[in-house]
Amino acid sequence: MEITDLPVEGYQRVAVARDPQSGLHALIAVHDTTLGPALGGMRMWTYASEQDALTDVLRLSKGMTYKSAIANTGLGGGKSVIIGDPKQLKSEQLFLAMGRFIDAFEGHYITAEDVNIDVEDLEIVRRTTRHVSGLSRNDGGSGNPSPYTAYGVFLGLRAACEHKFGTADLSGRTVAVQGVGAVGSELVRRLVKSGAKVTVSDQRSERVSKMVELYGVQSASDQEIYGVDAEVFAPCALGAVINDQTLKQLKCKVIAGGANNVLHESRHGQILFDRGILYAPDYVINAGGIINVSVEFIDGGYDEKVALQHIERIPEALKEIWAISAHKKIPSSQAADRFAEQIIADARSAKAST
Ligand code: NAD
Repeated sequence: MEITDLPVEGYQRVAVARDPQSGLHALIAVHDTTLGPALGGMRMWTYASEQDALTDVLRLSKGMTYKSAIANTGLGGGKSVIIGDPKQLKSEQLFLAMGRFIDAFEGHYITAEDVNIDVEDLEIVRRTTRHVSGLSRNDGGSGNPSPYTAYGVFLGLRAACEHKFGTADLSGRTVAVQGVGAVGSELVRRLVKSGAKVTVSDQRSERVSKMVELYGVQSASDQEIYGVDAEVFAPCALGAVINDQTLKQLKCKVIAGGANNVLHESRHGQILFDRGILYAPDYVINAGGIINVSVEFIDGGYDEKVALQHIERIPEALKEIWAISAHKKIPSSQAADRFAEQIIADARSAKAST
């Protein structure tokens, strides 16, 4: 396998690997390890070019640094991407080679699941590197992160309601949940249990029917969900759902959900701020999953109680960000970035002075 380092300003280490034998063509980016080893998932995608894959891995790894900084996981930010069609390219040889590539980072990068990569793939990767997280509980891992992500989103949504409406009590509160997959369905369960009036949408109609059947929620089409008369919009499906088109339809006062990269462009955060819509920044409110994984690295190993206690601090981080946003008159999305950058800068200077 040939591993080539790519110097990228602002990143600790970025490298590309090519292994003709297994067909592996992959990139790993370690953005920052000031706060700890860089943890971030492994994504497999049919990128049009290596440059597209590089752009993605750089953006994602930096995002992980910020997310972990605010979630106080004791981890830095990194990510890896495998270029190619998962349906055609996945093989034992490919994942063994990927493990060797990860191992070349000597523990500075720790991998986990991400788009198109599942636990079975990571089980193979683990045969050639020990720097793998998020395996099943039977293997000493922290297991499926989704219920923990949903728990954090639920707590963050309550905190957002408290901030906006003066009470965290959700009884009678109207919430539109877009996407009822692993995270969204668990969020709906918690919301309904708390007395909220929920409307759901999902591209997969059987998932909507299941929610209606289980919890008696209302349903809306993929197009209608934005314009539903709900106080809270909880995006739990795709990214970029807050954009010029959807902003015309939204009636909500709060946006708080599990999806990543909710804002299509950063200027949409400014529009939300100007319209007085309270936004819970995506990477802060959806950090429950990474917090759960991070507990694997605490002495003594994974302990669910520790994970839950840590996730219960997500509302505090959000409140701090909304306070910065109000004080500096900047959107909460921008306030979150500033907060993360400050945490990293403080840790860097504390390290330099010891
Ligand atoms: P999932 O695939 O289980 O669920 C997503 C659901 O959204 C699916 O049911 C899908 O049919 C639906 N969907 C897709 N496009 C849609 C559309 N246009 N309208 C309505 N529904 C649509 O994924 P998940 O694990 O629940 O993750 C949901 C979101 O949360 C993603 O953005 C993910 O990146 C983010 N996230 C997940 C976790 C986690 O722990 N699973 C952690 C952090 C962030």
